[in-house]
Amino acid sequence: MQLDSVTELLGIANYKVAYMVRNNKERTDLVLRRIEEEPCVCSGCGKVHHTPVHSTDTVIVEDLPISGKRVFLHVPKRRSLCCEDESIRTEELQWLRGRVTLRFANQIYRLTSITTNKEAGWFLGLDDEKVYRIDRGMLEELALQRVEKIKPPRNMSVDEVAWQKWHKYVTNVIDIDNRKVIWNHEGRGKTVLDKFYHKLGKKGCGKIEAVASDGAREFLSSTKKHLTKAVIVLDHFHVKKYLNDAVDTVRKEELRKARQQDNKELSAILHCNKRFILMQNTVTDKKTNILHKLESLNERVYQSMLLKEQFLSVYTASDRQAAYTNLRAWISAAIRSNIQPLVDLGYKFFRKRHYVLNYFIGKITSAISERINNKIKRLKLMAYGYRDVKYFLLKIHQHCGLLSPKLST
Ligand SMILES: [Zn+2]
Repeated sequence: MQLDSVTELLGIANYKVAYMVRNNKERTDLVLRRIEEEPCVCSGCGKVHHTPVHSTDTVIVEDLPISGKRVFLHVPKRRSLCCEDESIRTEELQWLRGRVTLRFANQIYRLTSITTNKEAGWFLGLDDEKVYRIDRGMLEELALQRVEKIKPPRNMSVDEVAWQKWHKYVTNVIDIDNRKVIWNHEGRGKTVLDKFYHKLGKKGCGKIEAVASDGAREFLSSTKKHLTKAVIVLDHFHVKKYLNDAVDTVRKEELRKARQQDNKELSAILHCNKRFILMQNTVTDKKTNILHKLESLNERVYQSMLLKEQFLSVYTASDRQAAYTNLRAWISAAIRSNIQPLVDLGYKFFRKRHYVLNYFIGKITSAISERINNKIKRLKLMAYGYRDVKYFLLKIHQHCGLLSPKLST
């Protein structure tokens, strides 16, 4: 192929292919030359300097593959005097990101939005560390454009996710109508949520009509302060979390007792592996089977499970009045059950009954919160957890929020 054709194929503005230094089964190496001289953009201060060129280095950067072969470009980079700090600086090229081209970095960012860094690295022939560096750089760059300014949501949901053991959390705010995480931050509680409301400003806060959350005290004090008109809803998604936690506490207690009494049949059912089946919200054969066995083996767990399912009657009621009747019936059944975690929950829902019933004013569907929560869980599992919380926040945005490659700017 003529070098002119290769230049055309590459399509890098103001650069041409001078010659090919290597071309084997695995890789092609092309040496580039600048077509027209242009002033250096300084990598130190970002300004254009017209100082004479001090020296020129060559950097080897990877570009998108051609015909299944990896492509490496040998790019001349000039060094010149920076007028700001009087040191010799290398020039900055807009189409490069470190040791790869911008379009290659973009490819990595697209891949890491659907799979792990490790898998993406394997696919492209790069090590994890390099994928991490490029991915993070791209996300940070995009975050400046897309995450800094937020459009106020009409209906939103606030949710916390643990990112590490020992109660380390991040808070996510979801725009329910646009089905996206629009803001997130390390930590939880009032001070964190205040940050979100401050960012929106008074005018932005005024546009919010309904907020779904778990109705925790810290959340309420921040939300009531900033959103005077919005309806606060304790939605089904957050209620399910409370219910699941209560059932799981009962399960653990009964499992401990079953083990002490050497009850193998019951231990097998209550074992952690079965936990996910018990927590499922849909009815499956496996779950029905377990429920049948539990009915005869352990009443406490069986009853907690039934109470959990019964709560649905509050949300499926025809109107607020019917829901209130069902909620009252549920609360007294929970208190009468004598199962402490459910008794506690009965009192909790009594205190928060207005927020539960607000569902009938601001009908917030909890399906999207649930879907995003599952996506984040999967993200954590796939990456075997995150040590770096800033990166985790960016990854949440990439997989469920404003940094998704599916949203073009
Ligand atoms: Zn400079």
